[in-house]
Amino acid sequence: MAQPINVGYVRWSSDAQEDGDSERRQRSSITKDAAHLGVTISHWIQDKGLSASSGENISKGELGRFLAEVRTGQVPRGSMLFLDEATRLTRLSPSKAMRILADLEDAGVTIRLSARGQSMTGDGLYELLGFLVESAAGHAFTKELGRKVHEAWLAKRDGARKAPGKEVLTSNTPYGIAAVGGTYAIGKGWSGRRYELHPQEAPVVVVLFEFARDGHSPRQIAIKLNEKNVPSPHASRGKKSKTGRCVWRTETIRDILRDRVYLDGSYQPCRGSSKTGKSKEGERVVGQYPVLLSEAGLWEAANAEISKRFSGRPAPHTSGAANLFTGLMKCAHCGGPISLRSGSDKGRIAALYCTNSRDGACAAIGSVHRHLVEAAVLHALADRLNPESILADLNRASKVVDHKATIERLGL
Ligand SMILES: [Zn+2]
Repeated sequence: MAQPINVGYVRWSSDAQEDGDSERRQRSSITKDAAHLGVTISHWIQDKGLSASSGENISKGELGRFLAEVRTGQVPRGSMLFLDEATRLTRLSPSKAMRILADLEDAGVTIRLSARGQSMTGDGLYELLGFLVESAAGHAFTKELGRKVHEAWLAKRDGARKAPGKEVLTSNTPYGIAAVGGTYAIGKGWSGRRYELHPQEAPVVVVLFEFARDGHSPRQIAIKLNEKNVPSPHASRGKKSKTGRCVWRTETIRDILRDRVYLDGSYQPCRGSSKTGKSKEGERVVGQYPVLLSEAGLWEAANAEISKRFSGRPAPHTSGAANLFTGLMKCAHCGGPISLRSGSDKGRIAALYCTNSRDGACAAIGSVHRHLVEAAVLHALADRLNPESILADLNRASKVVDHKATIERLGL
């Protein structure tokens, strides 16, 4: 009987979504995974510029030829087909994908998903359908986004509104806008660099404003984006959170919606740093960045909705509510940060809750009354420490809070 073979399959399409690095990343993911399993990839097959959603990689590509060999029994049983992720194989409908998987099952070929480190064989192959359905939902979403950004670009090209092509000041661009091209020289900085709409982020901004205009709250928008696994601004720029996953925050959504950069490409020159405190310097400079929202009146309509929603409510973070445990507590479920909901308005009791849960990125539900947590912790502390020194430490630690009152109330 013929020796099983280990086949690596890479596919990349000509979608704008996929950068040129895709092939290298897939190959390195597969090679590493194979080494981890103690095997080497004996054959590579690749489909360049072929789409998996139309099935081109199967009808015309090398994958199609390989699958035909599988069907006709030319691929030895026990062979493995390595993919970086399930979507490299196909984005065809589950019924079509099912037929491919049945062929692989009959031929005794295992699929290995290198990114997940998961092997699927026999009946287990059909698990792949779950991944494909999941990704199809995400794909429909990003496709819709892609269409929106394309329309925005067309409007821009037609000269509706243009950025006057100012010198690029920073690579730390607003969400939705990227600094691209140019050359970098040490000591001289960038030259010939320009701002463009960010191909992945800009459509998200458009959708976000549309949701707001249609009456969704910043929190509802955060939940939607987190549910769709849309990368948050931090995640999109490759930053990592201390607590693991970077998620969309209600506050981030609100900041984006209020930012005039999306209306007129303007930016606010500032003095100082985020450490020493920033202060505005002069008027906003209009036209620094390309105008992201091409639909007239969208920014205003979204902001009118937001103001309606928040009129008469205290601005966030200014409620004066102090959290004794700021930065010290983590959600036991997801490791996310804990926030304090102020008890000052509408007769509510101040409570602590998981911030990720509020934004739809953690399954932990509910909150704990703040005074119960404080009482429990302070009680435990009082057994070990001198209340006077705690008080002194707390006073040093914060200028704002009313710990003193809290401690007196608790009778320490
Ligand atoms: Zn949580």
